[in-house]
Amino acid sequence: MRFWGVRGSIPSPGPETARYGGNTPCVEIRAGEELFIFDLGTGVREFGSAQRGPFNANIFISHYHYDHLQGLPFFGPIFDPRSRFVIRGPTRDGRTVKDVISGQMQQPFFPVTAEMVFRAQLDYQPFAAGDKARIGEGVITAIETHHPGGNLAYRIECRGKTIVYATDTEHGTARDAQLIDFARDADIFIYDAMYTEDEYLGRAGSPKIGWGHSTIETAVKVADDAGVGTLVLFHHEPTRNDDAMDELVKTAKKLRKGTIAAREGLTIKL
Ligand SMILES: [Zn+2]
Ligand SMILES: [Zn+2]
Repeated sequence: MRFWGVRGSIPSPGPETARYGGNTPCVEIRAGEELFIFDLGTGVREFGSAQRGPFNANIFISHYHYDHLQGLPFFGPIFDPRSRFVIRGPTRDGRTVKDVISGQMQQPFFPVTAEMVFRAQLDYQPFAAGDKARIGEGVITAIETHHPGGNLAYRIECRGKTIVYATDTEHGTARDAQLIDFARDADIFIYDAMYTEDEYLGRAGSPKIGWGHSTIETAVKVADDAGVGTLVLFHHEPTRNDDAMDELVKTAKKLRKGTIAAREGLTIKL
């Protein structure tokens, strides 16, 4: 797997965030013969630039907040008629994944529509909590997490290895049990660790309760309870610069050995 975008909420480019990266969520996973892309944040643009020629991929979208969707109109391979993508995502308020993608590329928000410019072969498929997709040697399942408007966490299993992608979730006590169960024994557990507990509770700055995100302290707790291998902190707070990220990782490592923070270009082989 490789991380192309790791930042939460809004891109945060510049020298202060260059080491961890400023692009919003996009994770590439290659399992068997298949290519999976989780989320279409601005990181997907660079992923597209790094590819040569047309290709096939299975795209899974966690939810439709801008930071998880905005990279799609700038994803080069989507303009290549030889490329083929299956795009899966949840149906929200009666709007399917196709409706939402078409809806975000419209006046006055965007100059051209998806129908006008996308040339790749696109197959949109609704995906919901409880669904199971068997793709090549991979099996993908999902649950809802606690996030305004909803969010799907995905579990990807292939050849006895497991990755859980749990971005955008706020730790509610009842929901934790479900996520812990879902993440059980994963080799890699990617989790929304946007805030510290102090930031979340308002001991440092304004409180962030109800904003839909979690903390590094909770990340460690959930990872321990689920018995996962490596905890990967994800969806970094946009104002947190590289030095502050280093500090946060140091703290997290003390709480749980082997914890790492996602950064652009980080590649993990299982
Ligand atoms: Zn987000
Ligand atoms: Zn969100």
